[in-house]
This record gives sequence, structure tokens and C-alpha cells, in this order.
Amino acid sequence: MKLGVHSATFVKNWSEDITPYIKLCRDAGYSSVEVSLLGQNEKSAIEIGKLSKDLDINITCTTGLSKDEDITSNNQNIRKRGKDKLIEAINLTSLMGSKILSGVIHTAWGISDNYGKDKSLKYKNSSNTLIGLTDILEDKDIKLGIEPLNRYETDFINTVDEGLELCSMINHSHIGLLLDVYHMNIEEKDMCASILKANHNIFHFHVAENDRGIPGSGELNFNRIFETLNTINYSGNVTLEMFIQSNQETSKDLFTWRNIENNPFDAIQKSYELSLIQNYQKINMLDQEIGDGDHGTTILRGLEKAVSHFSTNNEFNNSISFMNEISKLMRISMGGASGILMTIFFKELGNLNFNDLYNTILTTFSNTINKIETRGKVNFGDKSFLDIYVPIHQELIENNLIDLDKIIKKIDESLEYTKSLEARVGRAKFLDSKGVGVIDPGAYSTSIILKEFFKEINNEKNN
Ligand SMILES: [Mg+2]
Repeated sequence: MKLGVHSATFVKNWSEDITPYIKLCRDAGYSSVEVSLLGQNEKSAIEIGKLSKDLDINITCTTGLSKDEDITSNNQNIRKRGKDKLIEAINLTSLMGSKILSGVIHTAWGISDNYGKDKSLKYKNSSNTLIGLTDILEDKDIKLGIEPLNRYETDFINTVDEGLELCSMINHSHIGLLLDVYHMNIEEKDMCASILKANHNIFHFHVAENDRGIPGSGELNFNRIFETLNTINYSGNVTLEMFIQSNQETSKDLFTWRNIENNPFDAIQKSYELSLIQNYQKINMLDQEIGDGDHGTTILRGLEKAVSHFSTNNEFNNSISFMNEISKLMRISMGGASGILMTIFFKELGNLNFNDLYNTILTTFSNTINKIETRGKVNFGDKSFLDIYVPIHQELIENNLIDLDKIIKKIDESLEYTKSLEARVGRAKFLDSKGVGVIDPGAYSTSIILKEFFKEINNEKNN
């Protein structure tokens, strides 16, 4: 799963230049940005495509049809305008280098004049028009996601079941669903059961809280939602689609009559906590294969302890005492060998010096490696988190500088390599196959920590 942000979180009108927000989202840790095609043209699409390539961030696209472009209509001319609009949208999506276009692409946005009647005709008209797009979708390798919307925004396709029915009438590999928890919370009896039912038909996923604000600040159970997405091995984008700003041109389209959150940038920063849920569950799933299934929960417990401590105590003398305290709080809260060994890196980070960044990072890595080897009696190649630290340390020495792209690539390669290793430490060494074929969960959690660390270092250097 890749976390993304809809640019509508920021824009005041649909024609606003979104390029500044793409970098903001990338710097906040997100892997994709969603662009509403309302207000975009070929020129802006090419610019967005180039920028996303330069910043190494994915673009996802959404659009909506108007009443004059309603492909469920019995009027052939209206359907033709709708089809042309969708072809234009597919072309803009392609110019941005994006592989996913979703939203209200199966009907017009808004309640139709026949108030939910004649649905079978609507299914027929909509599916026939969408079938007519499958060649261009295949040609451009773009997937189309139909978004079931709540009853106040459309009278056609409100539920996952209805969306699946339309998909089955089209029956094509490039047309599936975009599911949005905001709409599902209104329409589904049990949204997780609906996610399970939609399974591989889910091409894209939108998240927001029940009030369309910051996920985790309200009533929705994001633990359960991510657990369900993990169960079906969903690997697409999970995009924040918050509509939080009132008194803007976009507010009237989204029925936002008061500020749901005060500041869009704060909102996306707070929402990044979703990555914690997503990651700790993934780590637990890996640990279920070769350990006792709680490695993710253990790290999360440690992090929560440190965060809650510093939310009320912010007195510390220097970075050494600050990182010492974080390391100690996490170690005690996590317990066991992972608590002792995983927190060494955090303690060593206290010695970082931005005036001598490269050398102090090298020292941090060599000290961390030595202490893990000594205290944990673990060696490189034993299938542990050392199998990430050692190659990254070598990469840093060989490059003689901090090259983010090379480091991220090396982390991914090293992580993948742990699959081939036999476990010689931890519970996995007692398994018959010694965990061969499975990524080491400790290496996985370390890969996340190191990626975030180097991204932050890179951001600091560029600011
Ligand atoms: Mg949505």
C-alpha cells in the first residue's frame, strides 16, 4: 500500500496550480498525489507529469461527469459527450504518467431527474459506454475506478454491491472500483465485509474520517480497515481525500460549510500516522510467518510510549540526552531482545552533528552494528536487522556521500535478500525451513526506520 494525498485538501478552486503541493506532500512522506482533472489541461498535465518524475512521486487522477455528459442517459448525444470527456480524461491521465483514473466516471455527479428510477437502463447505458473505452485503457495501460458515492451525491451506484454489478457487466481487467470509506460509512452495513467482497476489484482507495477530516480523529476503525486491506493483499494507493476548508470555491461542491480542520498542511502531517497502522500490521503479518506475530505491535508500543512522554515533557539538555531518553523509553516499553537491540540506533542518533553529517552518520552506523553484534550475538547474514544496517553502512562508505536514491534502492535490495537467508537467530531458527522464502520482520521494520531517517536527512539538507 502506498499513502497519498488528494490535492483538493489544499486547493481553493479547481484551476489552482497544484505543483507546489506535490512537493509538500512528498516532503511529508507521502508516495502519491491525487489530481482532480477538473481545471487541468494538456500543458498543466505535462508539467505535473515532469515534476512527479523529478520528485519520484506517483500521480493518481480523479474526475467527474456533468449532467450534460451523463453516460447513463438515454440521449445518445449526452452519452457521446460523456465518452469524449472520459477519453480526454484518459489522455490527461496518461500525460501525467499516471496509471489510475477514478471517481464519478460511470454517471453524472448529482441526483438525476428520475430520482433513482430506471436503474436497469442506467446500468446498460453506463456499461456499454465504458466497454467502449477498454481499448484505449489497454493501450495506455490505465485502470479506471468506479466510485460508489453516498445517497446525497448520486442516485446511481451507492454501494459496493452495486459497483460490483456494474463491473461484472463490463467484465474487463482495466475497469474496477475506487472505494471510499467516507461513502461506505454511510451506505455499507459492514464496510470491511464489503472490502473483502470487492477484493481484487479494488483499484484505488480513499480515506478520511467520518466527518471527512483527519483519519483517526473520529469514529472510524482504521485498524480494522487496514487489517482488511492487508488480508486481501491490497497493494494500490490509499489516498487521503479530506474536504476540510470552508468558504472556498471548492467548498460548495463538497458541501463543506465550516472548517473541518484548521490547517491543510497540519492535517496531512497528522494523517501520516496512518502509515504507522499500515506498517505495524504488515510487520506483524511477516512475524506471524517466522516469529510470534507481535513485532509490529511491540515497536508501536515503544513509539507510543516515547511520543506520549514527550507530549508532556519537553525538557532535555541536548540531542544526546533527548535520544537517550527516547531509546530508554522504547527499550523498557518494548522489552525483550528486540527492545534492547532495536533501540541502539536511536541512542546513537544523539551523536549526529549537522556540521559534520556524513562522518557522524558513518559513526552512528558503525557503533550500532558493533553493539548489535556484541549484545545480540548476531552476525551479518543471520537473517536479522543487521542485514540492513551492514549493507547501508558499506554503501555510505563506497559513495563517500549521502545519495538518497542509491540508499533507498540498497535498502530494498537488502530487504529482499533476507528472503533467501536461513535464520540463525530468534525463534525462526527453530523452524524446519528456518524461514527461507520469508522477509525478516526485523529487517522490514529497520528498512522503514532507515528510509524515513534518510528522507528526513535529505529534506533537512535541501531546506
Ligand atoms: Mg472519494
